[in-house]
Amino acid sequence: MIRLRRAALPRGTVTKLEEYTGEIARQTTEKARKTRARELWGARRSVRPALLDALSEMAPGHARCMYCGDSQGTDIDHFDPKSRTPLRTFDWLNHLLACSYCNSNQKRSLFPTDGDGAPLLVDPTLREPLDHLRLVLPLGEYRARTPQGQACIDVFGLNRRPVLVKGRVDAYATARHSLELWRIATDRGQHDKAGEIVRVSWNRPLADVLVAMFHQSGLPAAGALFAGEEDVLALLNDPELRKGFLREP
Ligand SMILES: [Zn+2]
Repeated sequence: MIRLRRAALPRGTVTKLEEYTGEIARQTTEKARKTRARELWGARRSVRPALLDALSEMAPGHARCMYCGDSQGTDIDHFDPKSRTPLRTFDWLNHLLACSYCNSNQKRSLFPTDGDGAPLLVDPTLREPLDHLRLVLPLGEYRARTPQGQACIDVFGLNRRPVLVKGRVDAYATARHSLELWRIATDRGQHDKAGEIVRVSWNRPLADVLVAMFHQSGLPAAGALFAGEEDVLALLNDPELRKGFLREP
């Protein structure tokens, strides 16, 4: 999971979403609101393409799932489930792009909250996932830094799905190679090739691994975190390489 910036919707879509929400709000009981929300969402053809376009634009890489970062995001997920909060069914700020596995097999209608009723899951368009989760790069496994991070690990099965864990280990190896290739291409003056390496690196599945690498390279414990991989740490802290990959000034 990586921090994402929410895109703007076309004006016409915003108006339609408001109309749907108004219709749900006009229902007089909570039960009727849930029923109407479900019906309207099932027949939402007029807004679905615009929502998917905007979510795909916001998502990591080529429209990857905003939760696992691995599979193609195919479903519009309600962060706060419509069965719990029907009035947020057509709330753009409540829509995230999820793969069908995360949506249907993992999250379903789960929405853990703390003792005060605040959501425990991290919405990557509102909060920085790095504050809640730390990736152990050589293992490909996440460790929780907060109860919110633990809720994400549990609900999305971030460490229980071998495809994700093995995929992160491989993504780490691939990213290390890409850093080396970028350095070689840049030293040779092959700037188009270096630019392509950056673009492809960010478009690959599991871009959370690359985010974690750059983040952890700047931590006080970086020396320990990259023990035995000092050459990788040196590349991650190379100002020219950081500028190329992170567009830092
Ligand atoms: Zn997913």
